Amino acid sequence: MAWNDLQAMVVEDHAFQRRMAVRLLGELGVSHVLEGVDGLDALHVLRQQATPPDVVLVDLDMPGMDGIECISHIAREHLARSVVVVSALEPALLNTVQRMARACGLRVLGSVEKPLTRDKLEAVLNRIDDHVGEDADEVPAKFTLQELADALAGGEIVAWFQPQIEFASGKVIGAEALARWERPDGSVVRPCHFVPILEREGLASELTDRMLEDACRWKQRCDHDGIRIKMSVNVSAVALADPSAADRYQAILERHDIKPEDLILEITESSVMTDAALGLGLLARLRLKGFGLSIDDFGTGYSSLAQLSQIPFTELKIDQDFVFGAHLQPRKRAVVETSLDLARKLGLTTVAEGVESIEDWQMLAELGCDIAQGYLISRPVPGSELQLAIGRWRRPA
Ligand code: C2E
Ligand code: CA
Ligand code: CA
Repeated sequence: MAWNDLQAMVVEDHAFQRRMAVRLLGELGVSHVLEGVDGLDALHVLRQQATPPDVVLVDLDMPGMDGIECISHIAREHLARSVVVVSALEPALLNTVQRMARACGLRVLGSVEKPLTRDKLEAVLNRIDDHVGEDADEVPAKFTLQELADALAGGEIVAWFQPQIEFASGKVIGAEALARWERPDGSVVRPCHFVPILEREGLASELTDRMLEDACRWKQRCDHDGIRIKMSVNVSAVALADPSAADRYQAILERHDIKPEDLILEITESSVMTDAALGLGLLARLRLKGFGLSIDDFGTGYSSLAQLSQIPFTELKIDQDFVFGAHLQPRKRAVVETSLDLARKLGLTTVAEGVESIEDWQMLAELGCDIAQGYLISRPVPGSELQLAIGRWRRPA
């Protein structure tokens, strides 16, 4: 794979490391490389470009303006299409940076630990191609609140599905429902552009109900065709505050003749920890009714063992930022190993999300992870293509 047309920038105060990064990029075929000797210099250079570079590699630890501040400027001023965080810092800190950038709409391809090597660089740059298809979907969606509300009410916001594979059998055993806004003009809007708005506008419960309906409907179709899978649905923290949710979810399942055991509700680690008091009662009731409960984005919140053991989770999903590239990065691998260990001790099923490479797949299999989800297996697809995606899957040799 060559990236001849790629425009890149390296922001690194250490001259030797900067030259090294430029050279490694050159070896991978990237010849247009801008350089910034620190955060301020980088912003100055970036503001002079007619078109923003495809990717900026930013060292976090720099004197003067550090990488974190630099990235937040890049994000706010739309000075680059994506960034890669380069650092020797701990994964939790890297993760915070990634989240901050994403919140400003900047694509973070990933983080790479120092020292930079050709393999690490290649792995993270490969993600640019992965995002090309998404780019096409992602004509910056412009819409009014009313249009969004109408879209939800009118059924334009639907669930797409991403298959999950059990390592032991190599078979598809589940799928996660992910919200997509299918607009009448044929464009598809990703959830990061509208889920936070729906939550803010008090429409989170409607969204969850819609996703549950869709998940049940497509599961029924799979059941009918002899494909037995579980379905996972994301639940907003705000929806956890609604005491009527448990009964409503149960009613939706009953209408579709689906057992709660075949449905897993995913709640992000950070939302459970901040809204724990609110949501605990509901979570307990859902568990009593038989629903599976998954702790999503694990590793990005700051739950303690005590908190975790108090909540009746059945599954732990390791955040993709730790999974992606873990076979190359000892610190990420350590987070994955520790999470798997903890999950085993608490009796939870483990899911790794963001599995993009065979190497990461193999490492996870060796570490005893239960389930994999990621682009290696399939991207999220519309409900009508789920069975096709399941049929296409071949376990790596
Ligand atoms: P999430 O729950 O962590 O979902 C996983 C996200 O990672 C999905 O993005 C999925 O497309 C993406 N993904 C899956 N495999 C890979 C991979 O191998 N590499 C990479 N780079 N990405 C991968 P998506 O669909 O854009 O969803 C983003 C987030 O939006 C979700 O993160 C979830 O937090 C939220 N979301 C999606 N649907 C819903 C929903 O119905 N309700 C709520 N409350 N939130 C939702
Ligand atoms: Ca999820
Ligand atoms: Ca996640």
